[in-house]
Amino acid sequence: MAKTIKVASTEAKPGEKAFGYLHVGHLAAGTEVRIPFQLVNGAEAGPKLCLESTMHGWEPMGAEIIRRAMLRIDAKKLRGSIYCIPLASPMTVEFGGTIESAGLRVNPVDVLDMNRVWPGKKVNGWLTEQMAHALWTEIVTQCDTIVDLHDGTGSCDEMPVAFPQGFPTDPGRAVSGGVADGTGTFFEGKQLTSQFLGDMKEKIRGMAMAFGSPVIWWRENPINPAMLSGQCTLNGIVALVAECGGGGMIDYTIDQGVECLLNILKYLNMIDGEPVLPKRQLMVSDYVVYRSLEGGFYLQEEGISLGGNVSKGQVIGRVIDPLTSAVREECVAPVNGILVSRRIRMPINPGGYIAHIANTDAVIWERENP
Ligand SMILES: [Zn+2]
Repeated sequence: MAKTIKVASTEAKPGEKAFGYLHVGHLAAGTEVRIPFQLVNGAEAGPKLCLESTMHGWEPMGAEIIRRAMLRIDAKKLRGSIYCIPLASPMTVEFGGTIESAGLRVNPVDVLDMNRVWPGKKVNGWLTEQMAHALWTEIVTQCDTIVDLHDGTGSCDEMPVAFPQGFPTDPGRAVSGGVADGTGTFFEGKQLTSQFLGDMKEKIRGMAMAFGSPVIWWRENPINPAMLSGQCTLNGIVALVAECGGGGMIDYTIDQGVECLLNILKYLNMIDGEPVLPKRQLMVSDYVVYRSLEGGFYLQEEGISLGGNVSKGQVIGRVIDPLTSAVREECVAPVNGILVSRRIRMPINPGGYIAHIANTDAVIWERENP
């Protein structure tokens, strides 16, 4: 039997949707700090899924993907419950920006990146740490699975792409050091075994394949407990990191992102229906995040398209001097691959995002879909 679910003072009975705000505190002049959320409680019991986006305010497209996906869910037919946090760090969306994007990666109040402070702090913490703590205790730990959405920022458009984070299953090597601050509460009473780590890794892999993005980048690094996905893994909450869309644009990538989220609900048996999958899916172990060395105006080379193939050595664009037309940087694909994201914004400073390229010489799994 499904039960009523509750976050702060907001309740959703079985078969109902509800909207609410998680109160965190007040800023200097009294502005309330609150984080919006949506609850969708199925009429039948089932998994507890968290859909979270926009820890980084320059990546707001996940919020739109979640909103659209939830409009397609009938709570009366849903099995399990969905806890949506579309705008995890609201002030990063509301304020600031750079040449790269409107919005910020860090919270302008304390200049912290929310994806480096998990599980947050209740006392002696900066605002972002207090916000993370509220989200962690009130919402994330009520769930058994989470999808953490990011996008290409204001500078790049991006196809849906899953970034499953694998890790060594040897407990002695599974967790990265140097991030002990903020991780103290978690290991209490918990034992990381290779059995537990192996099970988590398989579940993360299954989620990544079910998401249904054309490209999946499988990474294996020690778990970083200060990141939301890492902290979830250590607590037995299956986390999938994914990116989709960008440039603040509504285009076909947003529709694809909605289908990918609904694929996860189908995979978890929360809704009925066949998954919507691309003709071909690849998992790669190598993936290039290409960033500029120079600043100027970025002009894409003709014939370059999102999702298209590039070959090693091919020019994908140039950073030119906006006055003299001199080429300051020729941007050349370092591998053969698929262009998963590409810059759409002309002015660029050094370090600006140019492209993501999935290395098609490093495919570790692939599938043709009917
Ligand atoms: Zn991000």
